[in-house]
Amino acid sequence: MMIDRQARKLLFETVAQRVIAGADELTDLDRAIGDGDHGTNMRRGFEAVLAAVDELSAKDLGESLKGVGTTLVMKVGGASGPLYGTLFMSLGKSLQDEVTREQVADAFAAAIEAVKARGKSDVGQKTMLDVLSPVLAVLREGGAGLPARLKAAASAAAEKTVPMRAIRGRASFLGERSIGHMDPGARSSQLIIEAIVDALEDRT
Ligand code: ADP
Ligand code: MG
Repeated sequence: MMIDRQARKLLFETVAQRVIAGADELTDLDRAIGDGDHGTNMRRGFEAVLAAVDELSAKDLGESLKGVGTTLVMKVGGASGPLYGTLFMSLGKSLQDEVTREQVADAFAAAIEAVKARGKSDVGQKTMLDVLSPVLAVLREGGAGLPARLKAAASAAAEKTVPMRAIRGRASFLGERSIGHMDPGARSSQLIIEAIVDALEDRT
């Protein structure tokens, strides 16, 4: 798959637009088990990505992704800003404009590990990792109908955070009371994954 300048621009715009469109929902989710700023944080970060999208996508894929990551670190704030920033910066470390599914999976795996290190967190703690990790597993499998399967995995994984008890992040302060609500970062990760899949679906 070739991710040229035009594809990078479409990719970053699609992700930014979906996150911005979902900002109110993210804030509502964060109001239930956090401090109600996840949507505002993410909107601020992705509005900055949109504002700089031409400049960001002009560089090769690796540098573009690092630029998006840096923008998110600077603009999102909260716990999620450094974590999503780390995710995108790490993806940018190894990806070239011409990429295979295996290369994307390897880069995504390394990026997830970088998020875990940064967040001192792991799968099963009711965070964004509970969406990112199952999506990686499907990406590794490959095979027929991959775009639809990636989106289905992201959606099912976000839903699975509802009965979980938060062990990391602000929601963990609620203990048992964090049970019964979707994790806001899991939902934003779902939105980001869906956007990436939709933006790249026509490229093989
Ligand atoms: P804050 O919690 O500082 O208000 P946000 O509301 O923007 O930041 O983001 C909250 C989301 O960040 C959570 O829903 C969770 O998915 C994610 N998160 C928080 N802490 C961690 C962590 N240590 N590791 C992974 N993800 C985390
Ligand atoms: Mg918050």
